[in-house]
Amino acid sequence: SAPWRLAGQELSDAQDDAVRLAMLDQEQAGLKTVTDGEVRRRHYIWGFLDGLTGIDTENLAKARSRGGRYAETTEVARIVGPVERKGPVLLEACQFARAATSQRLKVTMPGAMTIVDSVADEYYGVDRKTLAMKFAAILNAEARELAAAGADVIQFDEPCFNIYLDEVEAWGIEALEACLEGVSARHAVHICYGYGTPTVLAWKKQNTDWGHYGVTFPLLAKSSVNQVSVECAASGVDLAVLRELAEKDVMFGAIDVGTEEVETADMVAGRLRRALQYVPAERLFPCTDCGLVPRSREASQGKMRALAEGAAIVRAELTSTKRRELAVP
Ligand code: ZN
Repeated sequence: SAPWRLAGQELSDAQDDAVRLAMLDQEQAGLKTVTDGEVRRRHYIWGFLDGLTGIDTENLAKARSRGGRYAETTEVARIVGPVERKGPVLLEACQFARAATSQRLKVTMPGAMTIVDSVADEYYGVDRKTLAMKFAAILNAEARELAAAGADVIQFDEPCFNIYLDEVEAWGIEALEACLEGVSARHAVHICYGYGTPTVLAWKKQNTDWGHYGVTFPLLAKSSVNQVSVECAASGVDLAVLRELAEKDVMFGAIDVGTEEVETADMVAGRLRRALQYVPAERLFPCTDCGLVPRSREASQGKMRALAEGAAIVRAELTSTKRRELAVP
């Protein structure tokens, strides 16, 4: 999480400009569901925790997180007092984004399990589930306000659902449901194998067990979640597992976010055709594997274009064969 280079009014003006450009990039690429690019956040977790009391996201602690998958210890925020949401955290940003596009708007927040795995609790001294349910209540209050402000999709990012499989079953789904309860938008969860950063790429390269979705999908299939965002381009996941999502929408990762190499539209179309063996077209939403934050502007723009163009190729094939239309990315 890099420090801001500007401050005060200059910073907020620059953030507004960055949001407009990020949204324009997505629209010009041809995407139909867009976000504000999360460019107001230094980090996808701290960006939310910064808006709460009782959490220090500046003086970090070192702790084992992500099951020690990527490193022995990682920097984590510290809970140093009562954690409360005194007011909305992302509401103004959501309102700005809503006014800036007529496309479908998605807002993302860190999921409760992933937050718990990214903090050192120096105050409450409770177990992970209890802490997660506390954050879930806070996230739910926020999500309800964002949906009321016009967010079409509320997505919780839960990369930890690919790590702590026992906890997902024991309380992770329950915490996710608590986050989404009563939220008047499409309910989405994003479960990936991490950003395309060097430590994550090194882990992926030597990893041989890609069976995590096989455990979590049957649980999610029974949940109230509408859409599940999955990493399929850069992982070794067997696509047959997508069948386990039953009636859910599948946000299918067809773009590798770990490389600067831009996919061709034909490559993306090939990936989508393989997914169509397991997911009906009306529930298949072409998507990137994860966020594009580690990528250059050129690669990000190219990858988003390839995504939209690849989807267009397959959509045309489906229409010509009189099959149901492919959902737009
Ligand atoms: Zn991700």
